[in-house]
Amino acid sequence: MTTPVHSRPISERIDWLMDLSRSHSASFCSADNHLARQRYLAEHNTLIIAMKCMDGRIHLPYVTQTPLGIIHPFRNLGGIFELGWPYLGDMLADTVQEAVGAGRRVLVIITYHFSKGARERGCAGFDCNREAAQAHAYHIRSQLETLFGRGHQTVYPLVCGFETDDDALILHGRDQQTLDLASVPVSAIDELPSRLAALFPDMPGPVRRDLLPLVRGNVRHIAEVRTTNRELNIEHREWVICIGRGFDFLHVPNVALIIGPYSPDLSHPIRQAAGIIRANMDSGRIPGDGFLLLSSAPYQEPGTQKARATLKSAFMADFAANVIREAFPELAEKMVTRSAILNWPERRLDVQPACPLCRLPWGNQLLYRE
Ligand SMILES: [Zn+2]
Repeated sequence: MTTPVHSRPISERIDWLMDLSRSHSASFCSADNHLARQRYLAEHNTLIIAMKCMDGRIHLPYVTQTPLGIIHPFRNLGGIFELGWPYLGDMLADTVQEAVGAGRRVLVIITYHFSKGARERGCAGFDCNREAAQAHAYHIRSQLETLFGRGHQTVYPLVCGFETDDDALILHGRDQQTLDLASVPVSAIDELPSRLAALFPDMPGPVRRDLLPLVRGNVRHIAEVRTTNRELNIEHREWVICIGRGFDFLHVPNVALIIGPYSPDLSHPIRQAAGIIRANMDSGRIPGDGFLLLSSAPYQEPGTQKARATLKSAFMADFAANVIREAFPELAEKMVTRSAILNWPERRLDVQPACPLCRLPWGNQLLYRE
């Protein structure tokens, strides 16, 4: 039997991760997948945005059986977002504007998560308090309404629970009604269109049509999860902290904690993520020989855009490394830092050999800094 990835030495785990990113890029760029994605988007032209927790279990494409590159994720600790954050507000407004300009509607799925089997498997960002996490999702919904209107004809904000034992989505509709997809058997998949119509009477038809494949996919996924005997108590075995954007390739749950660059106080989610990694090591869920801090910034075009991505990614790696060194000096000794840029059209991750700020190879900063 081969050793599972999460218990291999850190250098092997990093090689595995880089292989994963390369094969993701290759598969993303393949003619078959490129065409399939184009066809999917031609048939379902609603832009789908997901706001979610950095928790590695919260993986919408995986649990809805949706091709990668369709759902645009915004990730942060606990799925905690304030739309007044300058960078987040700009990104969101630009993303919506671009879609609307191209004649597309926008569905924003606002997720919170919990475990039906054990409270402590809930969201660390809310101290495992399901009600608090759900209330925050409604808070984001109301901020979205402030930004994009309450008519919901162009931008539709949808609050959605994510129950991690079954990977089941819980759709929150009108008048506090919910549809728990864990309660829908695969045999009832044909009834879903009318159930969605009843739950979301104000949702434009095209948006409902484009939500439907995700809902069907989740019902099928739940059925598959139930046939596998998966261990629930190993939920936290992440050994990577990702900071920035462009981590779509991590389509494997429980590997990474992903922190978007949105909060004006990035140090808070970074400390929280480092605390989770330390707990994972302390409890023996991952080896104690090291963890990876990986930053990434995407770029569309060569030249200035690419140069900016390089600087941005290096800044984030350096910033996060410093936060971790200050808050967890012992853990920081086991930190392997890498800064990467992502060629967005090809989803190609290029790890930078050296820090462009100090010109030292990554990993040596610790030795030379002080
Ligand atoms: Zn969470």
